Amino acid sequence: RSGGNRMKIFNEQMRVSVQERIAGEKLLREALAGNREETLPVWFQPIVRAENGEIVGAEALIRMRAADGSIIGPNQFIPAAEETGMIVPLGEHVLIMALRHLVEWRHDIGYISVNVSPRQLAEPDFVPLLADLLAANPEIDPKRLVLEITETALLGSSLDVRERLETIKSLGVRIALDDFGTGYSSLTWLQNIPADVVKLDRSFVAGLSSDARKSSIIQAVLWLAKSLGMSAVAEGVEEEADQHALHAAGCELLQGYLFGKPMPPVEFGERVQRSSMA
Ligand code: C2E
Ligand code: CA
Ligand code: CA
Repeated sequence: RSGGNRMKIFNEQMRVSVQERIAGEKLLREALAGNREETLPVWFQPIVRAENGEIVGAEALIRMRAADGSIIGPNQFIPAAEETGMIVPLGEHVLIMALRHLVEWRHDIGYISVNVSPRQLAEPDFVPLLADLLAANPEIDPKRLVLEITETALLGSSLDVRERLETIKSLGVRIALDDFGTGYSSLTWLQNIPADVVKLDRSFVAGLSSDARKSSIIQAVLWLAKSLGMSAVAEGVEEEADQHALHAAGCELLQGYLFGKPMPPVEFGERVQRSSMA
């Protein structure tokens, strides 16, 4: 009925996910209206040096705390947040929390990475917000904030992404291309997007030490990143063998369960304290 030669399939699984989405939307609305630090905790996952596992940074990852205290992961509510526009206040909250913790841990870690959705990026108020937050935290060098963007999510957006990213970079903030390798035009993006960092997607990182094809792809991408002057972070490192293979291939920064899952800030603070004393 949607015309043309399109056919849409509506199955049971989708019906459940639509219901989930509606429920998620309601929860999110309530969470944003509540005490955000309680209802929308921002957790941190270590980013480490490949050679020795030393923590050099962290990725901020949003969570939602339901009324019964249970923790809900972002995949359950980020899509609804994007659709409804609630991603804008949500993203602002994440940035505020990330910068607050960067101030707290400024002597312990180098940087914090924050995910930014295309909808946020398209918002005319985004750059002024960023500039205000940086001005409010003068002890933080802006290059210690990294914004992670996804290439697939930006496809088809009418916004002049490149221009917006250049403006953000002029503030000194760094840009990371997230989930690299999962999109449809990765090389086009590498050519057009002024990114400082590429984050190699978990799907071709996990198990690379026992997969010659994965390993070749990783090596080529690392070479490409390096020749473009970008640094690379491999995501989803779960095994020591992969850590060693990535280090040997010249990937300097790693992230994954092997080094730590996303954790509440108190726990992360304790982790970096321990690791800097060691
Ligand atoms: P992402 O940006 O690719 O974040 C990495 C995800 O991989 C996180 O899931 C993390 O917990 C998971 N991960 C890290 N290491 C490993 C590993 O070794 N093995 C496995 N299996 N998984 C690993 P999480 O926290 O559930 O986040 C999912 C996605 O939600 C993120 O994917 C990101 O796209 C989105 N997201 C999270 N926080 C935010 C936010 O504040 N704003 C926006 N716009 N999106 C967010
Ligand atoms: Ca990310
Ligand atoms: Ca990612």
